[in-house]
Amino acid sequence: MSKNLQSVRGMRDILPEQSASWQYIENTARELFTSYGYNELRTPIIESTDLFKRSIGDATDIVEKEMYTFEDRNGDSLTLRPEGTAGTVRAGIQHGLFHNQQQRIWYIGPMFRHERPQKGRYRGFYQAGIETYGIDGPEIDAEVIAVAARFWKKLGFKKVRLEINSLGSNEARESYREVLIEYFSKDLSLLDEDSQRRLHKNPLRILDTKNPKMSDLVDNAPNLLDYLDEESKQHFEGLKQRLDKMGIEYIVNPRLVRGIDYYNRTVFEWITEDLGAQGTICAGGRYDGLVKQLGGRETSACGFGIGLDRLQLLVEEQGLIKTENHPHAFFVMSGESAELTGIALSEKLRDSHPSLRLLVNAGGGSFKSQLKRADKSGAAYAFILGESELESQQIVVKPLLETSEQQTISLDELSDFVEQHIIN
Ligand code: ATP
Ligand code: MG
Repeated sequence: MSKNLQSVRGMRDILPEQSASWQYIENTARELFTSYGYNELRTPIIESTDLFKRSIGDATDIVEKEMYTFEDRNGDSLTLRPEGTAGTVRAGIQHGLFHNQQQRIWYIGPMFRHERPQKGRYRGFYQAGIETYGIDGPEIDAEVIAVAARFWKKLGFKKVRLEINSLGSNEARESYREVLIEYFSKDLSLLDEDSQRRLHKNPLRILDTKNPKMSDLVDNAPNLLDYLDEESKQHFEGLKQRLDKMGIEYIVNPRLVRGIDYYNRTVFEWITEDLGAQGTICAGGRYDGLVKQLGGRETSACGFGIGLDRLQLLVEEQGLIKTENHPHAFFVMSGESAELTGIALSEKLRDSHPSLRLLVNAGGGSFKSQLKRADKSGAAYAFILGESELESQQIVVKPLLETSEQQTISLDELSDFVEQHIIN
């Protein structure tokens, strides 16, 4: 294949054989979010560049180096969304979803970031998330975390660790900022290039560094929790108390600051040991200032984003997929009148058994080649209708996955057979 017909680096195709695990994860997410009273919001994949600059923050990895930004034909600067919250807030303000209201919203879809592709890190990837608006107590932070905890339970993940922290109020963060700048300024040569640049713009970002050479420096930095304002302290205590009550284990990690600027008070991450370096599968927190920052009225907000690609890797590697997309049955039919009878009968079966997954042969072929297709499809049974069966108004039902004998039944009995042996 010539080079320009490859997918773009870091952008993946999800092939038909992988779609069962994706659908399983996505369906589980939809059912879960709905069961907690959340409703879906779908926003466009493209937004104005300004939206992300104003929300995510100038001195972040995303805005500094990861956005897919381009000019459209009118010269407007647009960006493929790198995350879901900015668009949700934009839509909420635009459609008046926030003022004097509570909202529980979920989203799912593709996101784009120009980073170095590796296992669990792609340039086009999928996130699902929930967002709550207009609720300021710690009970909603606890609920949001409980939704994620239940997601892991449903998927069968065992070793996922919850880390939480509080960034405090904007004022508390401001005083901590000063202390941090002073601390990191003591020896500038210990800071890498990114951190030197961020020192005065956003020193908290430095705590989020992935540079192992800076880990000692970061470990010895002043502790954010010592600078919390009284209200944020109480809020954090309230969250921990509720997590304890719900039996959700956590670790308080005072270095946890998250890679996006809009967070305040609660931040959290869910991390698995089973994916190597790309172990964070869910990240979130509170972003009470964001709605106002984007032009709306003061609105409390809390939510998370989940990296679905990483969940898919886990589900696949640990064999946790519980749904089945293989057909129940493959209809083999030989000869024109058998085919005509067969397709009519298939539609009738579909009328009476809506959950039946029936694959009907197309493109002709001998019995042998049709049975080969049936085997390849993963179907549990072959329904075989040839001219001789048709003459006696019968059909052969052949188990493909088990060694039991094939049986010949009357055409009228096929629907009962489906009911008794296949659907249940
Ligand atoms: P990281 O520190 O791994 O870069 P992040 O802080 O940039 O993560 P968020 O913006 O909080 O991540 O996104 C939430 C979740 O989305 C992450 O925890 C991760 O599971 C997933 N995610 C983020 N970027 C990618 C990517 N490039 N490819 C796949 N999944 C991703
Ligand atoms: Mg990142």
